[in-house]
Amino acid sequence: MAESLETDVVVIGAGAAGENAAGRIVQAGLEAILVETALVGGECSYWACMPSKALLRPGTVLAEAKAVGGAREAVTGALDASAVFRRRNSFTSDWDDAGQVKWVKETGIGLVRGRARVSGERAVDVSDDAGVHLSISARQAVVLATGSEPVIPPLEGLADIAFWGTAEAASAQEVPPRLLVLGGGVAGTELAQAYARLGSAVSLVARHGLLDLYPRAAADLVAKSLEADGVRILTDTSAERVFEESGAVVMELPGGGSLYGDKLLVATGRRPALRGLGLEDLGLDPKGLETDDSGLVSGAGNWLYAVGDAAGKVLLTHQGKYEARAAGAAIAARAKGEIGFGAPPPWSPYAATADHAAVPQVVFTDPEIAMVGLSPEQAQERGIRVSETSLPISVAGSSLFADGYEGWAQMMVDEDRSIPVGFTFAGPGVAELLHAATIAVTGQVPLDRLWHAVPAYPTISEVWLRLLEKYGL
Ligand SMILES: Cc1cc2nc3c(=O)[nH]c(=O)nc-3n(C[C@H](O)[C@H](O)[C@H](O)COP(=O)(O)OP(=O)(O)OC[C@H]3O[C@@H](n4cnc5c(N)ncnc54)[C@H](O)[C@@H]3O)c2cc1C
Repeated sequence: MAESLETDVVVIGAGAAGENAAGRIVQAGLEAILVETALVGGECSYWACMPSKALLRPGTVLAEAKAVGGAREAVTGALDASAVFRRRNSFTSDWDDAGQVKWVKETGIGLVRGRARVSGERAVDVSDDAGVHLSISARQAVVLATGSEPVIPPLEGLADIAFWGTAEAASAQEVPPRLLVLGGGVAGTELAQAYARLGSAVSLVARHGLLDLYPRAAADLVAKSLEADGVRILTDTSAERVFEESGAVVMELPGGGSLYGDKLLVATGRRPALRGLGLEDLGLDPKGLETDDSGLVSGAGNWLYAVGDAAGKVLLTHQGKYEARAAGAAIAARAKGEIGFGAPPPWSPYAATADHAAVPQVVFTDPEIAMVGLSPEQAQERGIRVSETSLPISVAGSSLFADGYEGWAQMMVDEDRSIPVGFTFAGPGVAELLHAATIAVTGQVPLDRLWHAVPAYPTISEVWLRLLEKYGL
C-alpha cells in the first residue's frame, strides 16, 4: 500500500528549472516537494552544459595563448586529454549529486526519489521498480520540469549499433581516434570542436548548414575555425545508412561515399520529455504543451504548470530557470490571492516575457557566437520595421586580445521606436559582451541614450561604438 503525503506544490524533475521553481515557492512561504528519478541537478549539471563547456575550455585557452605573440612561444605541448577529463569530472562532482541534495534540503524543499506520474487533478504518484510507493496530493499546483529527450533520426541501421548521444559524449573518459558527428546544431558543433582539439579526427555531417539558425557571417567564422582544427564538415548531406564493421562505425553517404569512425555521436535535436507522465488522461498532448507566460498549462484547469525544456519554448538552462522563477512567483501569488489566473502582466515577476524578445544564447566554440533578441526574419514575422547594421570586429581591444583577431557584430534596430531589438557577436571572447546587449534589448534603451554608454578603451566592447557610428549616430 503506497504511502500518501500532502504539500502545497509538487515539482516533477529536479533539474535547473525544477530546483528554481521549488526554491521560489519555498522562499514565498509555501511547501514544495521535488520528485527526481535520476540525479538532482539534472541534465545541465551532469550531461550537458557544464561537462561540454569543461571539455571545450582548455582547447580555447590553448588557442588563445597561441594567438598572442610572446605567449605563443611558451606553448610547447598539446592538450593533456586525461587532465581535461579529470577537470571535467570535477565539474560534474563525478556524477554524485550530494552537493545539490544538500542545497535542496537546506532550502527547505522536500525531496522524493522515484519516477512521478500525474495521477489526477493536483495528484502525483511516485514509483520505483516495485511499483507506486507514494501518492502526493498538492494543495496548489503541480509543476512539470521534466526536461527534454534526444530526437533520434529514422536512419537505417542506427537502432542496431551502439552510438553516443550528447550525454555520452559529454561524459566520456576517452578520446575516440575517429569521431563521426551527425548534426550541425549547437551541441554537435561544440562537441565536434572539443573532440577535435582533444585529438580525434572528426567528421561532421549536417543535413543543412552548420549552425544554420545563426547569421551566416557568424557561422562561417566557426566553420573556418573547425576546419583549421581538422574537422571535416559535410553540409547539405544526409547519412543514408550506418552499420558496424570490424569494430568501426561506417556511415554511408548519398552518392556512394562512406565515412568511418570509432564512435558515432548523434546530436540531432531534443524535444520536451512529456511521455509517461499521464498527460493523455488529462486530455493533454504529450507531444507538446501550450503554456502562458507564467507557465500555466492551457486546457488543464488552474493547477498544472510547465517550465524549462519541458515547456518547449526555449531549450536553455538560464531561460528555464527564468521561467521557473516566474512560475514559482505566480503560484505563490495565486495561492495568496494576490493575482488571478489570467495572463500575467508582461515584464512582471510572474511573466517570462523575455522568452519572446530577449533570449540570450552562446555557442561556446572558439570563436564564440553570442546572440540576443530578434533576428531579421523574426522581426519581419512580427511586422517590426528593422534595420540591420553589421561589421567586422576590428578595434584596439580585439587586436590586443589576439593577433589576427577575426570577429563580426550585428545590430538590429526597430526603426519606428529607435531601440535595439537584437545583437549578434562572433569572435574570441565575445560571450562576455552579451549581457550588455541583453540589458540594452530588455531595457529598450533608446539609441540616442545608448550613444552615452561609452565603451572602455581598449576593450572588444568598443565594437558597440563602431556599430552606432556605422548606424549613423
Ligand atoms: C550537449 C548539451 C549542451 C548544452 N549546453 C548548454 C549551455 O551551455 N547553456 C545552456 O543554457 N543550455 C545548454 N544546454 C541545454 C540545457 O542542458 C537544458 O536547457 C537544461 O538542462 C534544461 O533544464 P531542465 O531543468 O528544464 O531539464 P533537465 O535538466 O533535463 O531536468 C529534468 C529532470 O527531470 C527528471 N525527470 C524527468 N522525468 C521525470 C519523472 N517522470 N519523474 C521524476 N523525475 C523526472 C530528469 O531525471 C531530470 O533530472 C545544453 C544541452 C545539451 C544537450
